[in-house]
Amino acid sequence: MMQNCEIAIVGAGVVGLACALRLAQAGHQVTVIAPEDDETGASYGNAGVIADYAVMPVGTPDVLRNLPALLFDRNSPLAIRPALALAPWLLRFARESLPGRAQQNATAIAALLAPAASSWKELAAQIGGTGLLKPLGSLYLFETEADRRGTRFETYRAHGIAVEAIGRDALGQLQPGLPAGIGVGAAFFPNTITLDDPGQMLRHLRMAVEGASIERLATRVTDLARNKGGVTLRGPGLNLQARRVVIAAGAWSRKLAAQAGDRVPLDTERGYHLEYDSPAPRLIRQMTPVSRGFYFCPMAGRLRVAGTVELGGLEAPASPHRWAVLERGARAILPDLPEPDRRWMGCRPSLPDSRPVIGASRAGPEVIHAFGHGHLGLTLAPITARLVAALVAGRTPELDLAPYRPDRF
Ligand SMILES: Cc1cc2nc3c(=O)[nH]c(=O)nc-3n(C[C@H](O)[C@H](O)[C@H](O)COP(=O)(O)OP(=O)(O)OC[C@H]3O[C@@H](n4cnc5c(N)ncnc54)[C@H](O)[C@@H]3O)c2cc1C
Repeated sequence: MMQNCEIAIVGAGVVGLACALRLAQAGHQVTVIAPEDDETGASYGNAGVIADYAVMPVGTPDVLRNLPALLFDRNSPLAIRPALALAPWLLRFARESLPGRAQQNATAIAALLAPAASSWKELAAQIGGTGLLKPLGSLYLFETEADRRGTRFETYRAHGIAVEAIGRDALGQLQPGLPAGIGVGAAFFPNTITLDDPGQMLRHLRMAVEGASIERLATRVTDLARNKGGVTLRGPGLNLQARRVVIAAGAWSRKLAAQAGDRVPLDTERGYHLEYDSPAPRLIRQMTPVSRGFYFCPMAGRLRVAGTVELGGLEAPASPHRWAVLERGARAILPDLPEPDRRWMGCRPSLPDSRPVIGASRAGPEVIHAFGHGHLGLTLAPITARLVAALVAGRTPELDLAPYRPDRF
């Protein structure tokens, strides 16, 4: 039997749930569709940083210069599982890494990041999650002088981001758990907020969604078709007619976007994490050894070590080698780390220009896209929800959405 709803949100990661809550608060009748409330997706396993300093896209001239070495060194922070299907994405990524394009991408990302921290504070207060926000700043750790020289302080400052260059002594004070002899200094981002537990924040969001009487359908959308009344969504046990649809299915959004009429070069940058249970925090602040591509994330009752990029598609099993690389890197900084208690792999939804897709489908405004946030989906979820709500209401959004349009490719 066909069901009806006003707005269907496809996806229940942090982006889909934030959009659902915002739209319900605006008085809409909302239905969320996603397979299950599992805790295995990117929105659960990330590094928990509201990374409002992260204006640089993944593709930059520096990355382009080092790309061959990065891709073919099995132990580098960027790995690839050789597959012909990845070639078009990589070619676009290489083009987006050229100086002019990288600059434009940084400007587009910076515009979204500017309201990120304030919009998270607002959302956290609404869902009872304020206590999970840790306003302790974050560190980019320099293991060598070359790390310091490679950090572009002027780029951050040009975008209005507070960053301090600190030496070994100040580093020791900010991160007392760091062993003597590790690190020559750091870049300190004093205003960065981190989450004590991204999974717990997601649970708060889910409870707020339930409290807002949003209907939840536990299945997968396999077919999306436009018709006179809006859009029909079908899948196992699903036959739903919606006036409007928001596609927020993370790394799985490409096929649905294509069915809506938009060819978007979405792929995935897979990321990994390890967790070490430790009732007493080993480190105080979130810290990234800059040349290793992962974060040390002190979280509730544990230390999470999260990051690295693997271009490997949605289907392949996790690579034990990537976990081993992460483990070796973590021990290079904290040599007495025991065996990890947990291992995880998840899929970032990534576009070659590191910008998300936020905006109405080119085939008609009944479908709105909200996916492709890459390394910044946690950070950008609340602002994305605000932008989507403005589009649904027919208001001019607070930001120019041209840089994030689905037809920019
Ligand atoms: C190791 C790692 C560290 C990271 N660190 C950070 C960080 O510190 N800060 C930050 O801002 N970001 C970080 N990210 C990125 C961030 O986690 C992601 O960008 C974000 O979680 C994406 O959220 P999403 O809601 O778009 O997608 P997801 O969380 O992947 O959710 C997608 C949802 O869509 C559903 N779905 C999929 N297909 C269908 C379908 N056909 N029908 C219905 N539902 C479907 C899924 O079940 C799921 O509910 C990190 C990512 C990784 C991997």
